[in-house]
Amino acid sequence: MSSELSLPIRTYNAFMAAEGLSSKLRDVTRSSVIAGLSIARNPVAQQNWLRFPYYHHVFDDERAGFARQIRYFKNIADVISIDDAVALLESDAPIDGRHICITFDDGFKNWIENAVPILVEEKAVAAFFVAAGYIDTDLKDDHEKLLAFYDDGRRLMEFLSWEDCRTMIDAGMTIGSHSVDHVHLMDLSDAEAEDELRRSKELIEKNTGAPCNHFCCPFGRAGIDYDPARHPEMTRQVGYKSFLTGHRGDNPMGTSPFDIKRDHFLANWGNYQLRYFLGTS
Ligand SMILES: [Zn+2]
Repeated sequence: MSSELSLPIRTYNAFMAAEGLSSKLRDVTRSSVIAGLSIARNPVAQQNWLRFPYYHHVFDDERAGFARQIRYFKNIADVISIDDAVALLESDAPIDGRHICITFDDGFKNWIENAVPILVEEKAVAAFFVAAGYIDTDLKDDHEKLLAFYDDGRRLMEFLSWEDCRTMIDAGMTIGSHSVDHVHLMDLSDAEAEDELRRSKELIEKNTGAPCNHFCCPFGRAGIDYDPARHPEMTRQVGYKSFLTGHRGDNPMGTSPFDIKRDHFLANWGNYQLRYFLGTS
C-alpha cells in the first residue's frame, strides 16, 4: 500500500480527482445550466418557508465559499436550530417568515476544522448527523473501514472524535444520528434497522452527555434507501423527534417532522446555485 493512501483528503479538488472525471463533467454541466435558470428563481419572493440545506464536507479550499454561503443565508432568512425547526413543524401554526436550518451528514473531521469556526464567527448554528460507528476511528488502525466508506474505495476521510462532538455541542451545535454503520435501512430486517436507530442514539448520548433527538436517514431516498411506511414510524418509536430525508424542497405547514425535505449544497457553490434550489418549491 502506498504511503499517500494513509493521508486523508483535505481539499475538494483532491476529493473530486479521486471520484473521477465523469462526475466532474456532470458538475460543470449542472452549474452552467443552473446559472441560466437561477435568474428566474428568487427565494426572497416567498415570504414564509422552512428549508434545510445539507452538506457533507467543508474542505480546506471551501472555507471562503462556506462563509459566503452562511452570510447569504443570514441575509435572506433566520438561521435556526434543529430543535426550533422541529418545534415550528410540530406547532401546527403557519410558517411565519423565512427559516433555514443548516445540516451536515456523515461525521467528518473537516466539520470541526472548517465549518464550526465559520458558524461560530457568523453566530449561526447547525445540526451535525454522525454515523456513530465512524466516530473516534483511527486513520491507521481503521484504514480499511474508512476507505470503504465510499463505494469507490479510493477516498480516505478522517472522522471526528467524541471529544470533537462535545466541543461542537459546547459551541452551540447539535449532534444527531446518521445510524451506526451508515446503512441502507431498506436492506435491513426490522430488528436490524431498529438496532441501528437505538444503538446510534445510545452511543451519541453516552459519549456526548447530550440528548440525541434527531435522525437523518443515510442516503435518504424514499422507497430506495428507506421505507416511508415503516422507518419514520420506527424512528419515532425509538424516541427521536424527527426523520430527515434527502429529498429536495420546502417544508410548509403540515409537514411531518418525520418527513423533512432538505436541499443538498456544496460549500464551494456560488450564491446563484443556492438561489436556484432555495427558490424552487
Ligand atoms: Zn451519509
